[in-house]
Amino acid sequence: MSLTFIAPPLQQINSEIARHAGVDLYVLRLDLMHPWVNGNKWFKLKYNLLEAKEKNFTTLLTFGGAYSNHIYATAAAGNLFGFRTIGVIRGEERLPLNPTLSFAVQQGMQVVYLNREMYRQRNTPALEEYLRQRFGEVFIIPEGGSNLNGVRGCTEIIDRAMPTAGCAYAFDHICVACGTATTLAGIVLSLHERQRAIAFPVLKNGAFLAQEIENLLTNYLASDLPSPYSSPASWELVCDYHFGGYAKVNDELLLFSQQFTQEHGVPLDYVYTAKMFYGVMDLLKQGFFSKGVPQRGCRRHRLLLVHTGGLQGNLGMEKSLQRFSKI
Ligand SMILES: *Cc1c(COP(=O)(O)O)cnc(C)c1O
Repeated sequence: MSLTFIAPPLQQINSEIARHAGVDLYVLRLDLMHPWVNGNKWFKLKYNLLEAKEKNFTTLLTFGGAYSNHIYATAAAGNLFGFRTIGVIRGEERLPLNPTLSFAVQQGMQVVYLNREMYRQRNTPALEEYLRQRFGEVFIIPEGGSNLNGVRGCTEIIDRAMPTAGCAYAFDHICVACGTATTLAGIVLSLHERQRAIAFPVLKNGAFLAQEIENLLTNYLASDLPSPYSSPASWELVCDYHFGGYAKVNDELLLFSQQFTQEHGVPLDYVYTAKMFYGVMDLLKQGFFSKGVPQRGCRRHRLLLVHTGGLQGNLGMEKSLQRFSKI
């Protein structure tokens, strides 16, 4: 499948804090690959779309919240690749549609709603049966594109950072924001054993993800999907930067995000990337990334932040922020 993607730029960040910590800081700008189908959501969709095409499905059905980056990307990708799309949205319909859902509808997505109780059963055979009864032959992609096809796509993310990175295994640490950790799992599977992935859950009490990550890695390696290495690289969860939980923000985070964008020209989304970038800058000050020996052939530690996109979500968020506070 080919879209006119641009290769995600690898942008170096000139930061006094990083320099002081002896670390070179880079951002892999997955947000710039395509105006609508970008970020980690494209990588999670890619092999799901290929499987749907291979199996001759003409309709994709998937799930998400009303501001979901995945719904947005699926609507656009479906349109570009000639699939009909159905978006099953959690909760009640609210009119007028928010920017995410109006975009999805413009892209031709049929948007339907499930109350929270039914939505919770989205991964059960009973609900899938109900949806097939209602919509006919549909290729079902789980919420967020979070299945083994999704992991597979995410094993290709770090490749994108290599051609311009200088030495082959240039990055000591690769940082990524985490919801389900599907993206993290793909990244971990694609790293050299001397590299380490650092995951920043955006949910409260993110420690439960450790088990999810183990399961994803085990299931992936037990499947017949291709993996660059036979064992996963090391990884670590940093659970202190959730700012109160999913889609919760405070003034400190908003201010950080605005300043970071102004100083470095990197826009951040409030739900995922702003929290991860905030965490990284805070940990840099604590010397977290300065320990040990840099990778072979490198004189300084190199840190890669994966910009997973999600900027479309800021539209809806900024609207409600204006309503509730004076930002
Ligand atoms: C969905 C999303 C994530 C989380 O990805 P997981 O694979 O669920 O961990 C991170 N960043 C952005 C911008 C996202 O949209």
